[in-house]
Amino acid sequence: TYDYIIVGAGAAGAVVAARLSEDPRISVLLVEAGISNEGIVPATIPLLSLSLTPNTILDWNFTTTPQPGLNNRAISYPRGRVLGGSTSVNYMVYMRGSAEDFDRYASVTGDSGWNWKNMQQYAKKNEKLVAPADSHNMTGEYIPSLHSTSGAISVSLSGNPTPLDSRVIATTQEFSSEFPFNPDLVGGNILGIGWAFASIDNGTRSSSATGYLSPAYGRPNLDIVINAQATKLEETGNFGTIPSFRRVLVAENAGARHEIILSSGAFGTPALLQLSGIGDSTELRAVGVAPVVHNPSVGKNMSDHALLPNVWNVNNPDTYDSIFRNPDLFNASMAQWINNRTGAFASNIANQIGWMRLPESASIFRTVPDPAAGPNSSHFEMIFGNFWLNPTTPAPPAGNFMSITIALISPTSRGSVQISSSNPFIKPLVDPKFLSTNFDIFTLVESVKISKRFLTAKAWKGYVRSGVGELETVKTDAEIEAYVRKVTNTIWHPVGTAMMSAKGASYGVVDPDLKVKGVDGLRVIDGSVLPFVPNAHTQGPIYLIAERGADLIKKDF
Ligand code: FAD
Repeated sequence: TYDYIIVGAGAAGAVVAARLSEDPRISVLLVEAGISNEGIVPATIPLLSLSLTPNTILDWNFTTTPQPGLNNRAISYPRGRVLGGSTSVNYMVYMRGSAEDFDRYASVTGDSGWNWKNMQQYAKKNEKLVAPADSHNMTGEYIPSLHSTSGAISVSLSGNPTPLDSRVIATTQEFSSEFPFNPDLVGGNILGIGWAFASIDNGTRSSSATGYLSPAYGRPNLDIVINAQATKLEETGNFGTIPSFRRVLVAENAGARHEIILSSGAFGTPALLQLSGIGDSTELRAVGVAPVVHNPSVGKNMSDHALLPNVWNVNNPDTYDSIFRNPDLFNASMAQWINNRTGAFASNIANQIGWMRLPESASIFRTVPDPAAGPNSSHFEMIFGNFWLNPTTPAPPAGNFMSITIALISPTSRGSVQISSSNPFIKPLVDPKFLSTNFDIFTLVESVKISKRFLTAKAWKGYVRSGVGELETVKTDAEIEAYVRKVTNTIWHPVGTAMMSAKGASYGVVDPDLKVKGVDGLRVIDGSVLPFVPNAHTQGPIYLIAERGADLIKKDF
């Protein structure tokens, strides 16, 4: 028996395990379905993150249900299955979200502890700003006072210059009203285009496994079991009238004196709750699971950033495509990385990203209320990649490319995660319902026009040749919509499937203290609890949520 059992060693689970086991009086078991991250060399080399998923041993290999909004395509949906979870396979972009994201979490849950101001103490515990791999002078690329240098996850600015850098920045100067420069994207004011941070330390991936678990390995009060998929939470008694769940089935039973913490991610957590009888009673009975607690919100409210890969041919051989395609260049980059952890391999997918709003006059706002977290939050993101950044379609055998990959940041579509069997080894049905609303399709259609406008700046003259495929030819809204539905995918930021809500609310899965409603002994700490997908690549906000979650548990101990 342990004081706490944590299910899942991803972004959140590793934080909770490391923070709880800091107190030698607290005994902790961390259970992870996947393998160890140690010795997996491509998972340490930033640019090779593209090779880690989909369909590898490090990936749960989910596939969505056919998506009507995407012409009925069923798309592959990676999730990390390894110590560090998705932070061991992700693309490492690092942000915290907009201040308004956290202020909205505080207002919908009635807990001011989730507001931006209060959460900065946890940002401090999470971020450790370090020098970029190429040790370049960072002046003008960030605001030092907005960063922490004492946290667990190493974070740095881009470590390898690309031909896009000066062009993107020049465009923010030429078109400063539509595409303003943002001097620091981590500090909560996210609008505009700026230099991207990544969880990279000395040219090497920093994950929740390297940043939080590694330093905790020697602790006698922390046990970590890998290759161990939890299959069910078991009822162990009652607390008053509500059922207690303090046992989890792994290979054998493991019991917790205090609590079981579900950190299995936005797909794993709702699935485990449903397998254990916590969910919509009718839906559970239909798949042969005896309901214990009726809660129709479990697995619902999934929101995610849809991804639209826009790729252009460029007139420059110095793009990552050349390295991926040419074994001599690949080997030279690898040798440079092995030698001193610099060069293209030390860098992740993008040196600049931008956070954009639709114009206030956009016609969609005549019929749809603005879904953004507030006036200083975005509707879509632009990711500037020095290569063919389209995770679902391999690059052609020739040519050099740049990408303005769009992420839909304030979607109004909501999807679900639902078990289809009482067998825990059958994957749940993942249905993001991508592009199922007018707002979502409108925003992506506009983002194509806006991206094309971006490339009319002088800096791109002679550099950009033409859009790849239909991107070049589409003109009318109907044509652009057809293109969008054909190529849109996901940037893998699902949240909300065990959302937090105010105490006593008629919906939601966890209270603001992250305890599962109507149940004793269970908390959820991972991306599932976020009621809205934030203005960020999601690892940063989830790290912050987990830091506070660990604090809440420690206060109750
Ligand atoms: P995860 O990190 O996914 O962890 C869940 C853990 O639980 C996993 O280790 C899993 O194996 C384990 N688990 C699940 N079920 C069970 C079970 N039944 N028993 C035991 N263990 C279980 N975010 C960014 O900020 N920047 C990026 O650039 C970025 N790129 C991404 C690229 C890809 C390909 C992917 C997949 C994600 C990316 N993300 C990125 C998203 C980010 O990594 C996730 O949002 C974040 O890691 C989610 O944290 P989590 O703790 O909720 O879940």
